Amino acid sequence: DEAAREGLRWKCFDPASLEDAEWTMSLLSRLDYALETGQLWVAYQPKLDCVTGVTVGAEALVRWTHPEKGNIFPDQFIGAAERSGRIAELTRFVLEDAVSTASDINSSGRRFSIAVNLSATLLVGDAIVVMVRETIRRLRFPPELLILEITETSTLRSGTEAEDILRELSQIGVQLSIDDYGTGFSTLEYLKRVPASEIKIDRTFISMLHRSQSDRIMVNSTIQLAHSLSRKVVAEGVENAEILDELIWMGCDMVQGYHTARPMPKWALRGFLETSGTEARTKAIV
Ligand code: C2E
Ligand code: MG
Ligand code: MG
Ligand code: MG
Repeated sequence: DEAAREGLRWKCFDPASLEDAEWTMSLLSRLDYALETGQLWVAYQPKLDCVTGVTVGAEALVRWTHPEKGNIFPDQFIGAAERSGRIAELTRFVLEDAVSTASDINSSGRRFSIAVNLSATLLVGDAIVVMVRETIRRLRFPPELLILEITETSTLRSGTEAEDILRELSQIGVQLSIDDYGTGFSTLEYLKRVPASEIKIDRTFISMLHRSQSDRIMVNSTIQLAHSLSRKVVAEGVENAEILDELIWMGCDMVQGYHTARPMPKWALRGFLETSGTEARTKAIV
């Protein structure tokens, strides 16, 4: 096919590119192998309440540690997993790890929520609804502590199957969160219609908040708008104390970012939870 021919042409001119092309072509079989052999794992990034500073939950972020390539980040394989139908299996793996990790944490009396990213390509048929329902039942997890993050895409237009699936998910009692808010197809209409309890403002609006007056205006008005629709607001990509202060002043509900904590393996999350509230700062672990 076209891609394979491209690969051959590269072979003549650029051996380095060939290596990349071969890698991409074999990515899927390697991904299957990675799922089977435990090269995939889940990192957790703490999410803090702006007012109390308490860690109220974490976001599960998939990681792939390849024996030769090292850490491969999700942006490099989620797309391929979506296109090839591996995303359901990958999501099942992440969901299982995430819910059992949160269950563990909550067994000592906490009310810790866990967020899992849901690809829009999963919003067809009833597989995802069955998967979510089955997982929380089996692990006896309070549904309201599971947050499913969905990105705004054109597939979520009104009257589509995706919209029905989101409604079914929210009827199970799990929370929905609109991820990367502000970068996609978000319209005011979308915000009103999607049964999400939370929006996450994309980090492109957050990272320069302390320097950019226009970002401040947009973020501030987004917070006000979300609050007037009874949605909670999370800021992602909070990288320094100045940004955090701005967000607190604006009335943002929760923050996530390198300033407070990087994504980390679950064993490190336990340690973080023990020390957080006492000005915890994590090193770059992942
Ligand atoms: P996302 O859901 O928007 O996740 C936030 C991303 O921002 C993560 O990248 C996180 O590591 C990064 N991040 C957090 N704080 C900061 C910060 O202060 N500064 C900067 N520069 N970055 C920060 P990551 O882990 O590479 O994930 C990228 C994307 O891949 C995610 O974006 C999500 O869309 C997708 N993804 C990750 N795990 C999964 C998964 O299990 N399933 C699906 N469908 N998608 C996933
Ligand atoms: Mg997310
Ligand atoms: Mg995001
Ligand atoms: Mg993102």
